[in-house]
Amino acid sequence: MTARGPLRLTADEQARFTPPPDAAPRSPLTTDCTACGACCAAPDIHALNKPLGVPCVNLGPDQGCGHLCAIYVTRPGVCRSYQPDWVCGEVAPLPTLDARTRRFLEIYGLQQLP
Ligand code: SF4
Ligand code: SF4
Repeated sequence: MTARGPLRLTADEQARFTPPPDAAPRSPLTTDCTACGACCAAPDIHALNKPLGVPCVNLGPDQGCGHLCAIYVTRPGVCRSYQPDWVCGEVAPLPTLDARTRRFLEIYGLQQLP
């Protein structure tokens, strides 16, 4: 297995980024969404020095809805440019941030580093 890039994806894992045939297209909007927090917890975010699978330090309490980012108005560009996609529909309905994070990682074939 060859590590590739910051997300450490293999070719097989990369294939998981391909949406299912019946998935809704990625939103053209860089919409204001920290509603479920999965994208603030699951991926590694170098701009924030945030490791894979670890909630961002700016992520608020897991309330399951609403904006959870404590620095929402001043959040960095990498967060502002995130475009929700079909994965949101998979993770957002799950009841806890931990469950949403684990499903996000599972979909993308990512594993937390030891
Ligand atoms: S994973 Fe999707 S639904 Fe959840 S906070 Fe991020 S953009 Fe919003
Ligand atoms: S800064 Fe805010 S929007 Fe960006 S990852 Fe952290 S909690 Fe999410």
